[in-house]
Amino acid sequence: MKTIKENTTISLSVIEEMDLMGHEQIMFCNDSESGLKAIIAIHNTNLGPALGGARMWDYKSESDALEDVLRLSRGMTYKAAISGLDLGGGKAVIIGDPYTQKDENLMRSFGRFVDSLSGRYITAEDVGMTTQDIKYVRSETEHVTGMPENQGGSGSPSPVTAYGVYQGMKASAKFKWGSDSLKHKKILVQGVGHVGEHLIKYLTNEGASILIHEINNKRAEEIAIKYGVVPVSSEEVYGIDVDIYSPCALGGTLNPKTIKMLKCQIVAGAANNQLEDESRDALLLHEKEILYAPDFLINAGGLISVYAEIKGYDKQETMSKTKEIFNTTMEIFTTADMDSITPHEAALKIAQERVDAVKI
Ligand code: NAD
Repeated sequence: MKTIKENTTISLSVIEEMDLMGHEQIMFCNDSESGLKAIIAIHNTNLGPALGGARMWDYKSESDALEDVLRLSRGMTYKAAISGLDLGGGKAVIIGDPYTQKDENLMRSFGRFVDSLSGRYITAEDVGMTTQDIKYVRSETEHVTGMPENQGGSGSPSPVTAYGVYQGMKASAKFKWGSDSLKHKKILVQGVGHVGEHLIKYLTNEGASILIHEINNKRAEEIAIKYGVVPVSSEEVYGIDVDIYSPCALGGTLNPKTIKMLKCQIVAGAANNQLEDESRDALLLHEKEILYAPDFLINAGGLISVYAEIKGYDKQETMSKTKEIFNTTMEIFTTADMDSITPHEAALKIAQERVDAVKI
């Protein structure tokens, strides 16, 4: 009796949180054989099946994992909506160290849980996952996208995400400075993983001056040598004098403490959920006259790529749809300006209108 009562309390608070953020469904996955502990969150399926990558991360607690998957899946709904895709928003988190706790059994077990949702949720690659992992997942379910190119898939979404971020950054430059050129602009890229590295390629090709901040020292050194970019320490990262700060690591790096330190004029990066508290931090940036390119808008390239795989992949078409992020970003900045709201609010409003238009 006592156990039932306790469980009731726990599930009620989770359901309350779901209700608050508008989630449809959460699936908690536990498989002691493979060691899998995962959460799949389906935020909204008005526009289509909920698509969103699976992230493997060594979360400090289950509630951290739950909070992450709830926020990330909600972001996917808006990302798909603002990008004009017929997709809903979902996400999965696998709790564990991706370097030491990942193997084929774990990935296959995750695949079976995905399969049990019969296509309401489609999974893909995210932080801590590789294309090889996706192949293992695929052996248990067809509801997965982002398969290797040599197997007829769209391959890693990261280069396309980077291209979209680059377009969003150029649009931000045009809106802020009247020209989309990034030549000689001083840009700090925080997190030089899959997306960060590809972004650096675009930026160095255009003649930007790049600084990087990366917690993995070996990786930082490798990228610094490969591209001739300058690493900065954790102590100086937020207060450094740059034109553009590009968060490409994990979310939540924009909060009252860091925003106070920022000296940049533009924030445009790949990380999901950059704002610790959406409305508070979007407003703080606005008040400091820092132009913020909404994350879920400019990092949609990867989603556009994996969506194309479902519909019949065409690389050229995918890149040209991703290039459109430039125009959409300009439109959002203009709308925000006209309506005296933050770009984040403007993007959210337009995305929400599209979701609401097809209420089921
Ligand atoms: P990744 O794991 O390949 O790279 C992330 C990098 O950030 C790693 O090198 C990691 O060591 C570093 N890092 C982590 N915390 C850091 C910190 N506090 N300071 C500095 N560096 C830190 O991930 P990715 O695929 O490149 O994705 C980067 C971000 O972009 C994530 O937030 C992800 O959700 C988002 N995103 C990725 C895609 C995609 O296509 N991969 C699409 C949309 C959004």
